[in-house]
Amino acid sequence: MGKALIIGCGGVASVAIHKCCQNSEVFEEICIASRTVSKCDALKAKLEGTTKTKITTAQVDADQVEELIALIEKEKPDVVLNLALPYQDLTIMDACLATKTHYIDTANYEPEDTAKFEYSWQWAYRERFEKAGITALLGSGFDPGVTGVFSAYALKHEFDEINYIDILDCNGGDHGYPFATNFNPEINIREVSAKGSYWEDGHWVETEPMEIKKEYNFKEVGQKDMYLLHHEEIESLALNIPGIKRIRFFMTFGQSYLTHLKCLENVGMTSIEPILFEGKEIVPLQFLKAVLPDPASLGPRTKGKTNIGCIFRGKKDGKEKTYYLYNICDHEEAYKETGSQAVAYTTGVPAMIGAMMVMTGKWNKPGVHNIEEFDPDPFMDALNTWGLPWQEDHNPVLVD
Ligand code: NDP
Repeated sequence: MGKALIIGCGGVASVAIHKCCQNSEVFEEICIASRTVSKCDALKAKLEGTTKTKITTAQVDADQVEELIALIEKEKPDVVLNLALPYQDLTIMDACLATKTHYIDTANYEPEDTAKFEYSWQWAYRERFEKAGITALLGSGFDPGVTGVFSAYALKHEFDEINYIDILDCNGGDHGYPFATNFNPEINIREVSAKGSYWEDGHWVETEPMEIKKEYNFKEVGQKDMYLLHHEEIESLALNIPGIKRIRFFMTFGQSYLTHLKCLENVGMTSIEPILFEGKEIVPLQFLKAVLPDPASLGPRTKGKTNIGCIFRGKKDGKEKTYYLYNICDHEEAYKETGSQAVAYTTGVPAMIGAMMVMTGKWNKPGVHNIEEFDPDPFMDALNTWGLPWQEDHNPVLVD
């Protein structure tokens, strides 16, 4: 079918690349390009011989638009799958515009010096992508990603109108460390130490970080504490789900994680403000990242499951109704298959599927679009085929 250029070669990219290589009919060729090319070469060496997909590698600094343009012109991919960090979204979108190449990512743009999660920067590219006749698919991970596809599916098949969505992200995995993050520590800690917020009656309601705590009994995981966070898909779902009254996002955290985080915050280690240390400017959070376990190293140690999904409340044929769509993913099985634990797996699989939807033309809508704007059905089928089967519950316990 075609060729994908995959930028980044961390935890999420590694899973997406494994999955592209299992799906060689669609991904006949991939080029893995990242800042540290040795990581790309090591993954290529691991996968070659196990797949029909032809793999090439390249070094690229994705902060540099000119370097990206040169790489895209050389490789001539059909799609660019951005699995670097959110800081690189706009430079990669610029390069896609210049070369008229489709774009897919899993996280919204964030300026490196401000923890600000919103789509405005990327939505500002809408008209230019439309004019260029290329598609940008934003947020094709799990959350954002599958949560948006679940919402579009629920709206299409189960409801006339959805009024309430609670997104529940539960990680019941245990890696045995007192404190470690399951994906890039800098991005993860920026997310959880920011103020919380949810959408209600047409506006944002802001909370202090971790102010709202609930408990939920997750299937195949058990009872967990979960906390309300701001999360980027709330912003697009609030626009794209007609009749919506409230959207909240909850993530589970264990007490050990929270105690460590509080302590690190209290001593200033989670700050993104640069400080002078022995004559050199350093960002405390980046230093913290350097001393924490590499998320990739958690793979072989993590046991347990994730359970992520959405509880919907709304109306069908004039009657109130509730509906829960979720996926359960086993850390050890994910590791056995791809060498990464379930948090990377649940993001990397939808990233591959999103790239497949755009590359095969199943999703082709010039402009910049969030995932719930597309027909959810082929994506839902692909989740079942490619390792993230979904389950449904027509009578779920609600979050109070
Ligand atoms: P990692 O830190 O493991 O990997 C990031 C990769 O990007 C590394 O290979 C890194 O290179 C590369 N990179 C960083 N800066 C540059 C640059 N300037 N030029 C080229 N390459 C660069 O991150 P994850 O795999 O955990 O996360 C990847 C993305 O997925 C992030 O945007 C994250 O926010 C998102 N995500 C989305 C989720 C969802 O459900 N939607 C869930 C989890 C993550 P190097 O090896 O040199 O450091």
